[in-house]
Amino acid sequence: MSKAIVNEELCIGCGTCESLCPNVFKIEDGKSKVVAEDCGDCDCQAVVDSCPVNAISLQ
Ligand code: SF4
Repeated sequence: MSKAIVNEELCIGCGTCESLCPNVFKIEDGKSKVVAEDCGDCDCQAVVDSCPVNAISLQ
């Protein structure tokens, strides 16, 4: 299980991560916040790869 981290300085609040994995990512004040460790259900790497500014990493 990996935990996603969003670099808020890079995030442009596009909402792609939230739409792909709404259990983990929530857009608040124009930035994506990680609100859960892991949804256990999706491919975190796919979300990482979908971010247009490479603001998401996994640890
Ligand atoms: S996909 Fe990337 S830029 Fe878009 S809201 Fe998520 S972290 Fe921010």
